[in-house]
Parts: sequence; structure tokens; C-alpha cells
Amino acid sequence: MQSRIFLSSPHMSDEGYEMQFIKEAFDTNWISPLGANVNAFEKELAEKVGAKSAAALSSGTAAIHLALKAAGVEKGDIVFCQSLTFSATANPIIYQQAIPVFIDSEEDTWNMDPSALETAFKKYKNVKAVLVVHLFGLSAKMDEIMDICRKHGVAVIEDAAESLGSFYKGKQTGTIGDFGAFSFNGNKIITTSGGGMLVSNNEEKIAKAKFWASQSKENERFYHHKELGFNYRMSNVVAGIGRGQLKVLDKRVEKKKSIFEYYKNHLQQLEGIQFMPNNSWDDPNFWLSCITLHGKIRPIDVMNELEKENIESRHVWKPMHMQPFFKDFDFVGSDISEKLFENGVCLPSDTKMTERDLQRVVETLQKLWGV
Ligand SMILES: *Cc1c(COP(=O)(O)O)cnc(C)c1O
Repeated sequence: MQSRIFLSSPHMSDEGYEMQFIKEAFDTNWISPLGANVNAFEKELAEKVGAKSAAALSSGTAAIHLALKAAGVEKGDIVFCQSLTFSATANPIIYQQAIPVFIDSEEDTWNMDPSALETAFKKYKNVKAVLVVHLFGLSAKMDEIMDICRKHGVAVIEDAAESLGSFYKGKQTGTIGDFGAFSFNGNKIITTSGGGMLVSNNEEKIAKAKFWASQSKENERFYHHKELGFNYRMSNVVAGIGRGQLKVLDKRVEKKKSIFEYYKNHLQQLEGIQFMPNNSWDDPNFWLSCITLHGKIRPIDVMNELEKENIESRHVWKPMHMQPFFKDFDFVGSDISEKLFENGVCLPSDTKMTERDLQRVVETLQKLWGV
């Protein structure tokens, strides 16, 4: 059996930056959710993405949760949420006892459809926030979405968990709305093994998020709590990995882009294959190279054939309005996200892939198509 090709696996720097920062944490015994690496990682990431401030947290999910809280989302409030996404986008709405209303995607971005969003605003009052996602590193139509949300005076939270290194009209995704959430989970474009970052230009809100993330401990000589707290801070060891990974982000984006281009060059002639959109105003990180299938060959056929060759691939996210857990919540739109789920496949996009690995994927698919 040939070695496994992964969808997207952790890729530490060749230079060993991560270990240097971890070693600093050990040498100074800052093995805690505080310390020099946490502060520096926040500063370095904020600078890299062009946000005024950042809070390093234990996960991207925690970042989304605290963004909702900072946006004032409380029990009974409505949050418009992109349906086509990972459940981690929507779950924090439930943590806040708020009510998600799911919004369809559009074909040309795979993300929230501004016209469906507009329709939803006609249907609902009491909307506190809009949660838009930049799926697979593709930017949502932020200008249109921001215009609609500003008109209604509603906060915009960008789930940029998959889109660090993706630029919408020259701006890093996650820095356009009121809050942005990044993830450093094991399969993301850079990883700390697990972790997240909340960014905003509102420094006061970020300070508040750090306070909630540290058990809402008041500045007193004794343990004093006036608000509900969370244990959501990133550890200083983990932040060291993040600092090292940040140094190779641009390299990872470059490699992801070359993977996408390789697939496109070698596979786009196959009957019924369509590549994910590549819009002129969008500069994606190509976190995962995705295709949709419109012929006889179905996503399951592709995934089975690749698996036989020890190659990992997977479905496009199953929309939230199709999930049993969220079945009681409303959905606004048509069947675009459903179709993307039915027809979509994520091809292996691991930055450690060699030219030979890419060939293996292409040859396996060509064989399946009989060419
Ligand atoms: C990974 C991911 C998250 C959650 O991030 P974690 O760090 O795993 O909590 C949220 N939204 C999307 C779209 C993701 O892909």
C-alpha cells in the first residue's frame, strides 16, 4: 500500500520556529494560559491580518461564541447564520440560547446569498447578529452583506476559521465585519494543534472577551465574579506553535494555490467536473480544493475510488438546515447549499503533498472517468 495522502494535515515549519517558541515557554516556566507567547501571538496575528486587537482563545468555536456575546446576543435573539458550514459556526448561537435562522448560499461564492439575507430581514425583527462564513477560503460578498447589515443596524461576525490568508478586495477576511474568528485546529491552513483567535477593531470588546475567557474574574484581591465566566484562553505553549506557524502562512497559501492549479489543469476537461468559483475580486487561500460533479460519476464514487488508493477526500459540508439537531429552525433561500452538498467533493489539499502525490490523485480520477 502506498503512503496515505491526507486532506489537510498539520505542517510545522522546516526551520523549527515552533519548537523555539515552545522552548522559551518551558525555559521561563510559563506553562499557563498567560505569558509572552500569548501576548506576542495576539499582536503578531493582529498585525498580519490588519485588525486593531486580538484575543487568543482555546478554539475557533470559543472565538465565535465570544463574538456573539460581544455583539450582545442573548436569550431569544435571532441570529442569521450561513447554512452551508461546519456545525461549529452555529452551535455557539445555541450556547447563547439565541435562535438561529439559516441562510442559503449562492453559487458564485458558495457563501451567504445577500438576496436571501435581504429576504430574511423582511421576515424577522429582533435580529442581533449575522454570522457569515468564508468557506474553504472563498470570500463571501462582504460589500453587499455589510450594506444590508448596516442598513438594519445589525452586527456582522465573520467565521474566518477556514480563510486565514484569504483576501476580499485586498482586505483579509475576518477584518471587514465587527468581529472575525480564526481557527488553528489540526486541519486548518496553520495550526496550533487546537486554538482560535477573535479579532476586532473594537479594542474595548476584545478586552471584554479576554475577561470572559478568563472566568470573568474581577480585578480584586479575592475571587470576585459579577458575570458568567468561561475558561477559553489559549495556553502559552500552544501560542508558541502559533507564532512559528504564522511565519510560514504565506508559504502555505502559495502551496495550496499551486495544488488547486494542478488539479484544475489536469482535471477540468473531465466530463461533469466543475471547480469551485474563482472570482476576480477574491484572493483565496485555497484551504481545500473543491469540485462539484454534474454527470454520472457521483461524489461517493470519487471518494471510494480515492480511498482504495489510500487517499483521503470528503464531502462538502452538509448544510445546517438539513441537520437533525437544527431541524426546528427556519431556513431562508432555495436549494443552492443543498446542491453544493449533494454534488461537492473536497480533494486532498495537504501542503506536504509532492508532485508525485498530486499525480496519484489525478491518475486515480482519470482512471475512474476512463480516460
Ligand atoms: C474549524 C471550523 C470552526 C471551528 O474551529 P475550532 O477551532 O475547531 O473550534 C468553525 N467554523 C468553521 C467553518 C470551521 O471550519
